[in-house]
Amino acid sequence: MIRKVRSHQTQNEPLLFERSSPGKKGYQLPPLDVPSVAPAEALGVANVRREIEGFPEVSEVEIIRHFTRLSTWNYAIDLGLYPLGSCTMKYNPRLNEFVARIEGLAQAHPYQPEELAQGAMRVQVQLEQYLRETTGMDEVTLQPAAGAHGEQTGILLIRAYLEAQGDARRKVLIPDSAHGTNPATAAIAGYEVEEIKSNDQGMIDLEALERAVDDSVAALMVTNPNTVGIFEKDIAKVAEILHERGAQLYMDGANMNALVGIARPGDFGVDVMHLNLHKTFSTPHGGGGPGAGPVAVKKHLAPHLPVPRIEESNGTLRYCYDRELSIGRVRAYFGNFGVLVRALAYILAHGGDGLRNATIDAVLNANYIRKGIGDRYELPYTAPSMHECVFSDDRQARSGVRTGDIAKRLIDYGFHPYTVSFPLIVRGALMIEPTETESKQELDLFIDALRSIADEVESDPELVRSAPHTTRTKRVDETRAARRPVLHWKAPVEEKQAAD
Ligand SMILES: *Cc1c(COP(=O)(O)O)cnc(C)c1O
Repeated sequence: MIRKVRSHQTQNEPLLFERSSPGKKGYQLPPLDVPSVAPAEALGVANVRREIEGFPEVSEVEIIRHFTRLSTWNYAIDLGLYPLGSCTMKYNPRLNEFVARIEGLAQAHPYQPEELAQGAMRVQVQLEQYLRETTGMDEVTLQPAAGAHGEQTGILLIRAYLEAQGDARRKVLIPDSAHGTNPATAAIAGYEVEEIKSNDQGMIDLEALERAVDDSVAALMVTNPNTVGIFEKDIAKVAEILHERGAQLYMDGANMNALVGIARPGDFGVDVMHLNLHKTFSTPHGGGGPGAGPVAVKKHLAPHLPVPRIEESNGTLRYCYDRELSIGRVRAYFGNFGVLVRALAYILAHGGDGLRNATIDAVLNANYIRKGIGDRYELPYTAPSMHECVFSDDRQARSGVRTGDIAKRLIDYGFHPYTVSFPLIVRGALMIEPTETESKQELDLFIDALRSIADEVESDPELVRSAPHTTRTKRVDETRAARRPVLHWKAPVEEKQAAD
């Protein structure tokens, strides 16, 4: 029996173009009380657009209902569990939104004189300070606009540092459990990428690493916890191997939701890392707005940080552009300021103990799910899970059902799918990250759904293979839907014209 989290809204909503009928209006204006002049006369014929053919004409209520109905087709974190792994889709507290809308912050202009922007600058200084404390690093830049942009900034910092020492080196090492953005970043920064195999515990193979690090290696980029949700417990040893041979350790900190308040990368040998404020620090992401990917560094990399840096003298803050070794700007103005405000609000509202609790709950929730479905789905790595757990579809594949099918069937149960077929080192991966947001009730519903789907795979595999059954659109050709989306509407040819 399907226990639905929510019912599906009416799903046969036509386009506004299809609702249109000539002469309908969505507005009422009072009569003009000044002499009217034809637009062509006032502006010149060449500057006036003719009627737009097929432009929809609808009433106000039709417009309101149309867009309100469309909005109910969205799945959002405010509606239910969003279990995408390696994404940290957590609740965005409304307090953050309130603070970001405070007039002095929301209306601040990036070209405002510094003496009138001291409050906004103080927000940046304070956030940098909390991020330094959280990561155990020495300095932070808030400029990068997202995680991948933070990676690029970080690798450019490493390049600048090594170049300043007269040897930029050629290669960046990346474990096979890495997020796809890591090799892309290294390649864009001009490095060759070499893959490091994981061992049977899903962690970096130290012997393989020892063999790979020579004086052509600039850095290792490691995600920790890695993309199978496992903490690289030999990370300090990894740092040592790299440092002995003059290479740097870059940590992809997108998964800091598993570490905040518990462990600090700066304490286990990381030289540079990025954070995703739109993951760990509860600012909206995934189409919900711009993110931010601050980069934290150890002292030796700090001279290369992007300009401007904020400096303080006699209680006054000012932007300092005069830094000879800086890699320059990576973003206009001062980064995505509104996101920085939200992250600071989250940090201040929670305090150190609150942030630590969020981490503990996130790990607890992932392990609750691991335990809840562990007897029905194959767990390829048995090392302790941190904030996410990764299963494979091995058992279901025997009935011809793959991870993508199970994910589609989850939609029928009212949940957003988990991350499908990633990480690549797990065949047919189901990657699940609940975050601390979820209550036990919501987790139980999710576990019920996945257990029930496992039953269906045994009793009626075709039901799962052909899911979803309750959505407006059934399965699409995933390649064509992504590569050749149809984004415009063409008026059907009028019958009269067609007859001509
Ligand atoms: C999300 C994520 C990224 C990329 O972050 P964006 O903000 O989407 O650019 C990089 N690495 C890991 C491990 C991630 O989870």
